Amino acid sequence: MKAITVEPKKPGTVRYEDIPEPDVREGSVLVEAIAASVCGTDIEIAEGKYGWAPPGKTRLVLGHESLGRVIDPGLNSPFKKGDLVSGLVRRPDPVPCPNCAVGESDMCRNGQYTERGIKEIHGFMSERWRIEPEYAIKVDPTLGILGVLLEPTTVIVKALETVLAVGQRSFWEPKTLLVTGAGPIGLLAAAVASLSGIEVHVLDRVETGLKPDLVRAHGATYHTGSVLDLGFEPDVIVECTGVGSVIAESIQKVGAGGVVCLTGVGAGGIAPRATADIAAAAVLKNNVVVGSVNANKRHWYKASDRLGRLDRAWLSRLITRYEKPENFKQALERKPDDIKVVIRFSEI
Ligand SMILES: [Zn+2]
Repeated sequence: MKAITVEPKKPGTVRYEDIPEPDVREGSVLVEAIAASVCGTDIEIAEGKYGWAPPGKTRLVLGHESLGRVIDPGLNSPFKKGDLVSGLVRRPDPVPCPNCAVGESDMCRNGQYTERGIKEIHGFMSERWRIEPEYAIKVDPTLGILGVLLEPTTVIVKALETVLAVGQRSFWEPKTLLVTGAGPIGLLAAAVASLSGIEVHVLDRVETGLKPDLVRAHGATYHTGSVLDLGFEPDVIVECTGVGSVIAESIQKVGAGGVVCLTGVGAGGIAPRATADIAAAAVLKNNVVVGSVNANKRHWYKASDRLGRLDRAWLSRLITRYEKPENFKQALERKPDDIKVVIRFSEI
């Protein structure tokens, strides 16, 4: 079968090539790939900046945002032939740490977890893949191809659950939520947060085009410019840019008793403000800055429900480009008008 593979940490090594059929040891459920969406992590792996091949191998099958159709459910399976499924990304570390031991590998303490398509396990960008039944999630069939957005939605569900857990340390009735960054995660975060009835605002650099349209189409308010110039103090900020200055401004701007949840992964930059000043703003207002990454099975279950409740026409506008697997180079390239790029392996 064909797969999109890469030699991690070596730029320019992505290939669409023949590899053996998936090993039954990878899971008893055999799935035919329908689609895999591309995220920043895939692009970083393709650029040689990140990623680990399975032990003893030099190449890794890419892809962690999956949608497939069960072609063989295996024995004693909760699935049947034809079910649409998506695969959980992370697997617990072998020690295991306390969190992995209780099914919270998203909170792994020792970093020895593995991740499909990222860290030591093959991903989902192959014509067929196998998965353990306990790590496959049924996708609402009415979502169709939009089910490929499930994995990014899980990340948001965990972030919002984290915000709620932190907020409940005291009396807390948040009225306003700001999302910084109108990429796929930011837009989905705004949409999922709207389901709870909170007033949602989104801030991004671009002034016109699809991003502002999508935000307004969802009934949220769109802003550009600095977080500091907003005419209100958000109760919650979900930070999706990973940009140092936006992070610092978010911590400064969030209202008293507020929560800033960081979901973006950036690097470097020059400290735009003195650390103690940022910390003082947090101390004096009882604010919390909390990081959130990945998701566990509970978040996947909730994400499947939340995604199913979002408007299909709106969701379909998030996918700005479909590519065939043989066009992996274009798929793994950032283009200015991209929101979400999806690689289609088969028709739904
Ligand atoms: Zn662990």
